[in-house]
Amino acid sequence: MQFDADCKRCKRLADFLTQVRCKHPDYYCKPVPAFGDPAARFLIVGLAPGLHGANRSGRPFTGDHAGILLYQTLYDMGFSSQPISGGADDELILSNCRITNAVKCLPPQNKPTADEIRSCNTYLQTEIEGLPKNAIILALGKIAHDAVLRARALQLSKYRFRHASNHVLPGGIRLISSYHCSRYNTQTQRLTEAMFKQIFVLVKKYLLAAT
Ligand code: URA
Repeated sequence: MQFDADCKRCKRLADFLTQVRCKHPDYYCKPVPAFGDPAARFLIVGLAPGLHGANRSGRPFTGDHAGILLYQTLYDMGFSSQPISGGADDELILSNCRITNAVKCLPPQNKPTADEIRSCNTYLQTEIEGLPKNAIILALGKIAHDAVLRARALQLSKYRFRHASNHVLPGGIRLISSYHCSRYNTQTQRLTEAMFKQIFVLVKKYLLAAT
């Protein structure tokens, strides 16, 4: 299914967006589309828009804490033209990289239900189908990891999530996963800058190897 910025398939999420739109009429408050290079071989999958981040700006990981480390690392590793994503209308360009979310709408308390993840998965499925055979997907967190497997109709127990897990999926796409770069994970040092950078070093290695 192609991304639909007017999707209201999940009633709870559509109702929540209506509430948030009333409180913050200047926020984007719609399903957030993928952002970046349409021909990328590298797809990053996050969880869902943050209230004052992607839900405000309309660009994944833009405007909240989770995006700080992500865009800085993308810049350091040569995927982004800028270290900071300042808003959906800034000049930032991602090269050979695209960012999307497992769930396109802002969920209450940052927690989509299993049904919402399943319902939104058809969009991720289409995004992954559009990737080249030797693409690399980086899943940020277990929900994103599982959403990628679901989108490929794969058994979750065969491809376990852990930080730096690295699986080649049937068909050739490689799924690398990381702890999510959330404020909680970075502030508790569950995910350090060095750990996150290592993930991108791994991604780059495979991108260069499979050209
Ligand atoms: N912002 C996003 O777009 N996705 C996340 O997973 C977290 C913050």
